[in-house]
Amino acid sequence: MVLNNCPHCSAKNTRNEILCSNCGTQLDVIPCENLENGIQITKRNGKSLIETATLLNCNKKYLHSAIFSIFAIEEMAKPHLLSANYSQKKDIPYAEWDRIARGRNRKSPHFEKWKTYMESLKLNIHPDLTKDETIEMIAEYYVRLKNNVLYVNWEKRLNKWYWLPEDYSETEQEKISRDLLYSARKGYERLT
Ligand SMILES: [Zn+2]
Repeated sequence: MVLNNCPHCSAKNTRNEILCSNCGTQLDVIPCENLENGIQITKRNGKSLIETATLLNCNKKYLHSAIFSIFAIEEMAKPHLLSANYSQKKDIPYAEWDRIARGRNRKSPHFEKWKTYMESLKLNIHPDLTKDETIEMIAEYYVRLKNNVLYVNWEKRLNKWYWLPEDYSETEQEKISRDLLYSARKGYERLT
């Protein structure tokens, strides 16, 4: 039988138990006393990803640098979520974390993380678009960037192979890399 240890009193519960049989707390949560540690680790990961993006930029691997900046920005959305719960001393239900961290309900895998992050940036919104539309547009742009920089795809509509780097000059690639690295560094500064 698979056992599920209570995060608060350590009592052993069966896997399908929702509340601890000993103390009554919800079992499938990230306990609030673990949130601060999560904040520190995700910050360290964000920093490390930015360092990798910087190295790639210095080596003129501009679009790969851009991808690592996107990974960093996505990762740094996590401390925002963790901090919000930490300051209220609230456990995070695991299902909630899973939904946000993996974005299973969205066609773009990291949409929720982007949304949180973009909101935290207090973006200047284009006057013709609502805030939600802008956030969605940016999130989709970055998902597209990741998919088409890292992979070659068969573009049915155009009846040809598509690989994004072939559509951008080196100058354009450098600008994308620089802009994203700037955003990632700003995002990191905001956390520290
Ligand atoms: Zn318990």
